[in-house]
Amino acid sequence: MLEARSLVKEFGQLRATDDVSVRLGDTENEMVFIVGPNGAGKSTLVNLLTGRLEPDEGAVILHEETAEGTVERDITDMRPDKRVKEGLVRSFQIVHVFEEMTVRENIRTAALSNHGLMRSVWSLRDEHEAVEADVAALLEQFRLKDVADEKAEALPHGDRKLLDVAMSFALDPEYLLLDEPTSGVGAAEKEYVIETIVEASQEQNVTTVTIEHDMDIVKTYADRMIALVEGSVYREGDPNLLETDKDLRRVLLGVSDDE
Ligand code: ADP
Ligand code: MG
Repeated sequence: MLEARSLVKEFGQLRATDDVSVRLGDTENEMVFIVGPNGAGKSTLVNLLTGRLEPDEGAVILHEETAEGTVERDITDMRPDKRVKEGLVRSFQIVHVFEEMTVRENIRTAALSNHGLMRSVWSLRDEHEAVEADVAALLEQFRLKDVADEKAEALPHGDRKLLDVAMSFALDPEYLLLDEPTSGVGAAEKEYVIETIVEASQEQNVTTVTIEHDMDIVKTYADRMIALVEGSVYREGDPNLLETDKDLRRVLLGVSDDE
């Protein structure tokens, strides 16, 4: 379980993150969605969790199950690349889509960077085979087999997003943080993209934390939603709150129910 404990982040006078405490991955393969209006501090929270930003106050804690029970590790000061080794991956964090490379080559690059972390324990040939096995599995899982030999730049937007996420998956995440994976994806492709990500996360036992603006997607796929407003947790719980909580609806949609 990944915990944000009383996190505070200020930019000058602005408290972008104002005493945020949340627990992520309390249940197995939990799918948490973060919602909130523009400027609410969603991306800042993700940046604090992945180590791209340092908090002014508070801590980021990993809870790990060991033979002796649950152990807490404070990773607040850990560099982002080290957090990746601990299983904390953000989409786009380490690898990017290389436009001139094919889909397969892109995924291979990410898989190599992951296996490179363990180079010392493997012979070169075993490593090569393991990498190719990962690449094949990811192409399959992210429904990219048919476009495996096309250049990334030639892909439709939905497939580009899936390629991005597939590359994050190649880093073997335990927690995957996704900042608006469906942004810019057309309505027709959206469901396909998110469904593919959800399926892969469930199969690979990954806890996902996804920032998402499309409330239908949140209602359909979230185990739990966290609504941020002005840097603080405004609501947290069942995604049905998006239907039933009038105040929440007002804040998110900017409409009242009498309209
Ligand atoms: P969201 O992702 O919910 O739209 P952000 O976390 O990106 O919101 O931003 C929260 C607030 O912090 C916004 O008012 C934004 O302008 C401000 N902010 C974010 N990053 C920085 C930064 N690096 N420097 C100054 N202000 C920032
Ligand atoms: Mg944002």
